Amino acid sequence: MSINTEAYHSIKEKTDAAKALLVAVSKTKPNEDIFTLYEMGHRDFGENYVQELLKKQLELPSDIRWHFIGHLQTNKVKQIAPFVHLIHGVDSFRMLDAIEKEGKKLNKKINCLIQVHIAEEETKFGFDITEAREAATHFFIEIKYPHVNLCGLMGMASFTEDAEVIKNEFAILKSLFDEIKAMKDADTNSFTTLSMGMSADYPIALENGSTLVRIGSMLFGARN
Ligand SMILES: *Cc1c(COP(=O)(O)O)cnc(C)c1O
Repeated sequence: MSINTEAYHSIKEKTDAAKALLVAVSKTKPNEDIFTLYEMGHRDFGENYVQELLKKQLELPSDIRWHFIGHLQTNKVKQIAPFVHLIHGVDSFRMLDAIEKEGKKLNKKINCLIQVHIAEEETKFGFDITEAREAATHFFIEIKYPHVNLCGLMGMASFTEDAEVIKNEFAILKSLFDEIKAMKDADTNSFTTLSMGMSADYPIALENGSTLVRIGSMLFGARN
């Protein structure tokens, strides 16, 4: 068994205190490890690869809430649409169109987060801030995607040791989150999730308004 249960309890204490959700990122890890956390009462798991997620979803308990946190291809949306709890990495208007199409076919609303590019690195996917604002207006003002439920934003900070840089990037995302949230009526607002923070930077994320952290290696050990 390679779950670090001590780390789990310690992280859970911090996320509970911040009223944030802990998503255990189980990509590349075996079913036994997921099941260990499941037996401890954990239900939210994050995966990055469609084939791996489909296999695990079939083999593991059906009340697990699967979060798709990786880079999704438009032609694979239909494979996860029937069961996925939340798609975190919606990073283009093409992807929104693809999710809308599948939601319509299934006659349901698919929960999504818009991924916003906040890091310095070129390689990270996502909308820039202007595009994210524009996407939000498509939801809240024009109602262009009736089968997509925009639940919030997701972002990844730069891969750096410099806590100040990370903090600034998270703060930028939090302020965009608040701005978009204010576009909609408080009563009917399901725009409540700010997905930011991973093993290396989740304490900074929680201090800066994260409502959901995605933690892999601190719980499951390093990936190969
Ligand atoms: C893999 C991954 C994580 C988890 O990363 P750790 O550093 O192992 O906690 C979180 N978010 C995304 C988008 C990932 O791809």
